[in-house]
Amino acid sequence: MEDSARSSHGTGRLVYLDYQAAKPVDPRVVEAMLPYFTERFANPASLHTMGDEAAEALERARRSIAAFVNARPEEIIFTSGATESNNLALIGYALRNRKKGNHIVISEMEHISIHNLAKYLEKNGFEVSRVPLDLFGRVDPGKLRSRIRDDTILVSIGVASNEIGTLQPIREIGEILQGKGIAFHTDAVAAEGLLPLDVERNHIDLMSLSSNDIYGPRGVGALYVRKGIPLTPLMIGGGQENGLRSGTENLAGIVGMARAAELMTEEMESEVLRLRALRDRLIEGVLQTVPKSFLNGHPTERLASNVHFRFTGIEGESLVLLLRDEGIQAATGSACSSKTLEPSRTLIACGLLHEEAHGSLELTLGRFTTPEDVDAALEAIPRAVQRLRRLSPLYKEEAPV
Ligand code: PMP
Repeated sequence: MEDSARSSHGTGRLVYLDYQAAKPVDPRVVEAMLPYFTERFANPASLHTMGDEAAEALERARRSIAAFVNARPEEIIFTSGATESNNLALIGYALRNRKKGNHIVISEMEHISIHNLAKYLEKNGFEVSRVPLDLFGRVDPGKLRSRIRDDTILVSIGVASNEIGTLQPIREIGEILQGKGIAFHTDAVAAEGLLPLDVERNHIDLMSLSSNDIYGPRGVGALYVRKGIPLTPLMIGGGQENGLRSGTENLAGIVGMARAAELMTEEMESEVLRLRALRDRLIEGVLQTVPKSFLNGHPTERLASNVHFRFTGIEGESLVLLLRDEGIQAATGSACSSKTLEPSRTLIACGLLHEEAHGSLELTLGRFTTPEDVDAALEAIPRAVQRLRRLSPLYKEEAPV
C-alpha cells in the first residue's frame, strides 16, 4: 500500500508498527463501500425498491459476518464498534438475567472496556470476580472453575490479550461453562483475522467483534448473540437489529466490515504464516542484540502480530519517543489505556514489578508490514535502548534483572 512506503529510517519514511491501536482500511474494502455513500444510500427500512436493495445489502453483510464466526445470520447484531458490543453483552446480559444471579467473572487480562464495565456493574449491585493470570498472561481454566458459583450468570474472557498477545484457552473455558446455564462472552477483537473464531467449536454465547481490526472502517462492530441468549437493549428507538440496537444502520460501514471479513477468510492462513515469520525475526533479533531484554507474554501461544518487550532500566515512554525520532511508530502498551500513568494492569497481573512494567515496548505487525520495516526496527531498537541506558543514572551493566 502506498502509505506504508512512508516507512523507514534515515529516509523520512515512517515504519508503522502499531497495528493493534489502529489499522488502515484495505483499499478493496473502500471500493466495496463507496457506492453505499452515493447511489446506494437508501434506508434499509424503506419500502421502495432502493430500500429493498439496501436491506438486501445489509442481510448479505450479516451473512458474511456470520460465516466469519460460524454463526447464523440472525445471531449477528451490528453495533458502532467493540466498546458498544462489550457494553451490550455485559450490561445487556446482566440486567436481563439479574433474577438468576448477580455474579460475573472476568479475567485480569481483559481490555480496559471490560474492566470498566465490571466496575460499573459492581456499582450497580453486581459482584465481579477476576481470575488471575500466570507469568505468561494466561488464565488457568482450573482457577476459572474455582470462581464459578451458584449465582454466576456470566463469564467474560477475551480470546487474546490486545497488549501482550497471549492466547487464552478459550475452548477449554467454553467446555467448562457448557451446560451450566452461565453465558460465555468473549471479546475477540485482538484475535480477529489472526485465529479462526468459531462460536460453535468454542461454545461461545456472546462475542464482540470490531471492523477496523480486520482492516474495515472504524465506527462499526458486531455482537454475536447465540439464539436464546436474552439481552436487554441499551439503545432504545426504532427497533433495528432485532430490537437490540436501535438506530438507522451504518450501511456503508457494515458493507465494509463484511468485505473485510470475506478478504480475511480468504487470506488469513497465508497471512498468519507471513506475520509469524516477521514476528519471530523481530523477537529473536532484539533478544539477541539487546542485553537484559525480555519478551512479555507467552513465547509460543501468542498472536502472530504481537511483539512485546521489556528492557531493564528503560522507561517505555522514553523509548517510544526515541524510536519516533527514527521514524518507528511504536507503543508502550494499549492505546486505549495510554492516557493513564498507571502501569499496565495485565503486566502487573503477570507478576511484573511496576518498574518492569514501565519498561515495556509493544510492536504490532499487520497486513502492510514488510521485511524492511522489521529491519528498520531491528536497527533502531538496540541503538535507542543503548542511548537511554547511557543517560540513565540508575542503569548499570551488571544491574540485577
Ligand atoms: N476490545 C479490544 C480487545 C480492543 O483492542 C479494543 C480497541 N481496539 C476494544 C475492545 C474497543 O474497540 P473500539 O475502541 O473500536 O470500540
